[in-house]
Amino acid sequence: AAIKFPSRDQQIKRRNAVLSKSLSVSYQEPIQMYRSAFQYMYDTEGNTYLDAYNNIMLAGHSHPYIVRAGQQTLARLNTNTRYLYDEILSYSERLLKTFPKTLNKIFLLNSGSSATDLAIRLSRSFNSREKIAVLEHGYHGNTQIGIGISHYKYSDKQGIGKPESVIELPLPKAFGSGYSDNGSAGAYFAEQAIALLKPYEQEIAAFIAEPIVGCGGQVPLAKNYLKDIYPVIRQQGGVCISDETQVGFGRLGRHFWGFEMHGVVPDIVILGKPMGNGHPIGAVITTEHIAEKFEQGPEFFSSFGGNPVSCAIGQAVLEVIEREDLQRKAQEVGDYLCERLRELQSQFKCLADVRGTGLFIGVEFQDHKGGPGTQLASRIKNQLRQEHILVSTDGPFEEVIKIKPPLYFNREDADILCAAMHGILAREWP
Ligand code: PMP
Repeated sequence: AAIKFPSRDQQIKRRNAVLSKSLSVSYQEPIQMYRSAFQYMYDTEGNTYLDAYNNIMLAGHSHPYIVRAGQQTLARLNTNTRYLYDEILSYSERLLKTFPKTLNKIFLLNSGSSATDLAIRLSRSFNSREKIAVLEHGYHGNTQIGIGISHYKYSDKQGIGKPESVIELPLPKAFGSGYSDNGSAGAYFAEQAIALLKPYEQEIAAFIAEPIVGCGGQVPLAKNYLKDIYPVIRQQGGVCISDETQVGFGRLGRHFWGFEMHGVVPDIVILGKPMGNGHPIGAVITTEHIAEKFEQGPEFFSSFGGNPVSCAIGQAVLEVIEREDLQRKAQEVGDYLCERLRELQSQFKCLADVRGTGLFIGVEFQDHKGGPGTQLASRIKNQLRQEHILVSTDGPFEEVIKIKPPLYFNREDADILCAAMHGILAREWP
């Protein structure tokens, strides 16, 4: 017999009764999801959606191999790091192999936010300093520490404002900087940042940045920016943190980790989102030196961090990425999709910039006057939803469409997305 689902209006009413309004719902017409598989999601009305933006499901929604790994381990053993069990060791060894040798200690947690929190604690314990240098429009997590270092949240109209301990650095965004080449933009922003850091020479605990700033509108840090900044931070005794929560695990195609694309090696790396393909796992990877200093403090314990079920799932994710060659697919499909989007850009002036690498892409929109294309981006997102294609918007003015699909997303899917965007643009931007 067919399953009878409550109506959308009923669900919204129930939601408003029990959930806080600080939680938002996507799209003007919210979707009641029921099921998902690989690059598809299915709603309660029987519609199939092509998912072009749920980056967490890197290895494909509900991948059967990953689901089975979780089910089997959950049925056998679930406990914590105060016992010895193989899953945490096999997984940690395997994950650490993907990093440069200096990054050889791992802390397993349950979210990107808890990883950020610990990364900041590790930095502060290492050098006994307080100040954190952050990029404008960055986001790193929902804890008190996370929000406090996330310009994207604290600078919001309703935000807490910049904490005393934070040093803000302009986002090194090549597009719109006035510099025609990426390298000159990087040098300009690095010089500016170094001048801003100068007054705090003996006070900086850490510098934190995403390799491509997601919430800022999928902005790759300009070329050589990190190469210029990292030595300056280290010279002063500070720690360099790379937040790989969004970009990690092969999504970038040419690189497994985002810091590789900038030619640097961080002291601390933050992981989350796709690490468990939807199951809540996060991690901090760091050097022996930083970990040793932290060991002089109280014991670190997380009830769920590093439990065997999460580790088995994490291991299965790594196996799927490798066996199914997902990193290479991200590169091939990503290159193809960018090419197709650039063709659209040559037809429609409102596509101001197409950027990103692999399957981590941003399309920035502008209006007729060259200002941020906020309304246009929103209309495109909502009309794509009506055509059963999922994308999201972000950026300082919500003027950027974000494309970061499960890595099962293929060339045909890229064509479907671009054809739908073409149809919408022909109506919206005649
Ligand atoms: N860092 C970055 C760059 C993120 O995008 C996010 C989540 N959007 C986080 C940290 C926090 O992760 P979580 O929501 O899993 O706590």
